Amino acid sequence: MTQILSGKQVSAGLNEQLIVDVKKLKADGIEPTLGIIRVGEKPDDIVYERGATKRAEMVGINVNHYQYDNGVTQEALINEIRRINDDDSVHGVLLLKPLPSHIDEKAVCRALVPSKDVDGITEGSMAGVYGNSGVGYPPCTAEACIEMLKFYGIELIGKKAVVIGRSLVVGRPAAMMLIKENCTVTVCHRKTVDIPKRCREAEILLIAVGKAKFFGRDCFNENQIIIDVGINVDDDGNLCGDVDFSVADGYVKAITPVPGGVGTVTTGILMKHVVKAATQARHG
Ligand code: NAP
Repeated sequence: MTQILSGKQVSAGLNEQLIVDVKKLKADGIEPTLGIIRVGEKPDDIVYERGATKRAEMVGINVNHYQYDNGVTQEALINEIRRINDDDSVHGVLLLKPLPSHIDEKAVCRALVPSKDVDGITEGSMAGVYGNSGVGYPPCTAEACIEMLKFYGIELIGKKAVVIGRSLVVGRPAAMMLIKENCTVTVCHRKTVDIPKRCREAEILLIAVGKAKFFGRDCFNENQIIIDVGINVDDDGNLCGDVDFSVADGYVKAITPVPGGVGTVTTGILMKHVVKAATQARHG
């Protein structure tokens, strides 16, 4: 029987710990605070902002909202980020992306200090993940994958992991984090030859591609743990992952569902980073 690795349980466990940690910080006079910067009124951004705000409130984290219209200049955004960098009452920043095309997104991200980069968008955080230096924070989705594997007690040491996708927000940092956990990692992308064969070789198969139900039986083996990061809409208008769940369920050893899997854990990781940033700010 296939074990379904639900994100809800992982999320509940994270919430429990966060509530305790936030109470401790508040007892010391620190109000952990997340700043959310949104440009424009994109429905996806609004939904994500609402979800993050709700999650923050649930565990006692404050949220400051910084909202700009689509015509905002790059300079204005960078100045806002610099103000937040200097504002000791804000511990972490979530910048909703992509930004409008007239703005150099990398330049805006670069303005943020890594110590407040709770979503892993700066080059400093990237260097932290790759160099294992503890600077900044890993991208939340990549860390959510590892959090799920650990929560369910999945042995990682010496395992063969295959990551499909090499984006800077998911595939690459997830691969680095799996290496840190002592997995042997292969990273695949569009130019990889015979992806199904690579997938079948995996003990841990992490897929972050963005193609609805693209990975089927030819990619699986019976002892496999699958982490499906993809969030897509299928032909019937339903949310689904990159994996054809109906085929994997009952065949592989374990799999994260979509919805209800990795996505459920991501905002919990964001809050964990805010609490860590607030704790580190307290210790100077
Ligand atoms: P992305 O930036 O578009 O990257 C997709 C990656 O998949 C690229 O590296 C691409 O390869 C690779 N790829 C695409 N088609 C492929 C194919 N046919 N065979 C092999 N590799 C292929 O996407 P992303 O931001 O990483 O997101 C990936 C998925 O995760 C999306 O569905 C997204 O919605 C989801 N996501 C979920 C969360 C969450 O919280 N659960 C968060 C972020 C993203 P090349 O590099 O060669 O182009």
